[in-house]
Amino acid sequence: DNYSNIMGIPVPQLTMRNSVELINKVIEQKPPELFHVVTLNPEIAMACQQDQQLRSILDGAGLLTADGIGIVMVSRLKGNPLPERVTGCDLLLHLLEAGNQKKWSFYFLGADEATSEKASKVIRRTYPNVSVLGRHHGYFYPMEEAQIVEEIGSLQPDVLVVALGAPFAERWIYKHKDQLHARIAIGVGGSLDVIAG
Ligand code: UDP
Repeated sequence: DNYSNIMGIPVPQLTMRNSVELINKVIEQKPPELFHVVTLNPEIAMACQQDQQLRSILDGAGLLTADGIGIVMVSRLKGNPLPERVTGCDLLLHLLEAGNQKKWSFYFLGADEATSEKASKVIRRTYPNVSVLGRHHGYFYPMEEAQIVEEIGSLQPDVLVVALGAPFAERWIYKHKDQLHARIAIGVGGSLDVIAG
């Protein structure tokens, strides 16, 4: 594979279609380790310059995508362009579409309670073959965290969506990666707000 260098971070030159195909392959192959998808935005790339731990989270991720036109433009300026942007929200919608065809299961963590409930209702209605195993809002106390992790771990979703915003979502996924028992975990920002309308 070819990579573009974004502020020292290697980002694979994959289209949306390539990204969904890779994720599909991972879900079908059922590897034992959680496959972490990071949608790289300028804030995360900047934060990585100062934060070695965040950088190592990105280095350990299964897939990095270009979250936004800014990242794509930087890659063009450097003469080694990324093919297109693959934002968290677009990728989530494509995964729901693919999941509807392949009957994947999802768990949604994040956003406020009303948004979380509305988004899962919209998703159930729009993608009837997707199974929404569970959901939890993103304004929990630290003492509630273990129970949420345990619930996700017992449900073993194909796709765990962590809509807590970047880079908090990325750190959260990394911290719990061995207990979540999801095949794919993806950190997003306001995607559930968009879906809930
Ligand atoms: N959020 C959350 N818990 C928090 C803080 C934020 O669930 O403690 C949610 C918030 O409701 C929103 C998303 O995380 O749905 C953050 O979206 P934003 O667009 O701010 O994130 P970004 O796109 O900057 O990563």
